[in-house]
Amino acid sequence: MNRPRLIDMHVHMVGNGGGGSGGWLRLSGWHRWLAGFMLRQLNVPASALEGDLESIYAEQLLQLVRGSSMDAIVLLAHERVHDPDGTPRDDLGSMFVPNHVVLDLARKFPEFLAGVSIHPARKDALDELERCLAGGAVLMKCLPNCQNIDPSDRRYRPFWERMAAAGLPLLAHTGGEHTVPIVNAALADPKLLRFPLECGVTVIAAHCGTSSGVFDHDYFDDWAAMLREFPNFYGDISALVSLNRCGHLRDCLRPEIAPRILHGSDFPVPVLGHRLWLQGWIDRAAFKRCQAIRNPLERDWQLKRALGFSEEIATRPARLLRLEEGGSRAPSRDVSRAASPPSR
Ligand SMILES: [Zn+2]
Repeated sequence: MNRPRLIDMHVHMVGNGGGGSGGWLRLSGWHRWLAGFMLRQLNVPASALEGDLESIYAEQLLQLVRGSSMDAIVLLAHERVHDPDGTPRDDLGSMFVPNHVVLDLARKFPEFLAGVSIHPARKDALDELERCLAGGAVLMKCLPNCQNIDPSDRRYRPFWERMAAAGLPLLAHTGGEHTVPIVNAALADPKLLRFPLECGVTVIAAHCGTSSGVFDHDYFDDWAAMLREFPNFYGDISALVSLNRCGHLRDCLRPEIAPRILHGSDFPVPVLGHRLWLQGWIDRAAFKRCQAIRNPLERDWQLKRALGFSEEIATRPARLLRLEEGGSRAPSRDVSRAASPPSR
């Protein structure tokens, strides 16, 4: 298909391995309750948690994309927790969605773009990266604080340099997190992303370093300061239309910040616009109109538009993601890359 124009670049693939993917989902307590809540937004019964969740979820999600303003979404795999020496820690973490799940879905449906997930300490990290590049990955996603990844670890230089050479952006979770268990809270700090940035990787800080709960550290100002230093640094406003994470949403409209903002919903994380209205950021009519939209992808988009975000937050991802030629990857603003013939 033609290159997608409007892209939601932060949507989670969810699965339990029920269809034989090799993935798994382990939920207890609050996380189990939250998963049930998230599935209900998809009109998926909670019993799907015991069935072939991948297939049910992907089918429902496809309908949501087709019923929204978006041309495509980046569908994110979810890596396992590893020790810094590369040992997988399946005793930690709540979910594993292997990369082939999102790569296969992206091959089948033009509405899906593959966001792969690789712990750079893995013994086979570089081989997996090559497999994912060959398979059409558009970005690499990780959650440093949940997957135990210190992006500043100097041993990861070859991994970051290969990503930079391939034009594969890094989407890294920053700030607190409440939907996936935390392994090392200190790794939520966007300042740890200096190293991949210095290696030449285009880095997108998911959630712009904002806090998820009252006890989390708020890294928003650190993130914003780094934008001045690194032209290859961005932030996504995924999960910011919410009750807990919306504090800095309007700051992202500031003229020095807005050109670095990308649209993501963080689906299936719930979209709740109540605080935008209660704080007087949008009027009651806009709130009621948006909150009545049943499709959560579209509700998130329309609430952001009502707040004053331009359409560019959803057209900008197409310039940054590794979209295949012909296909054709858009001319990058990175002159050095645009001047040389594409390596693919
Ligand atoms: Zn997310």
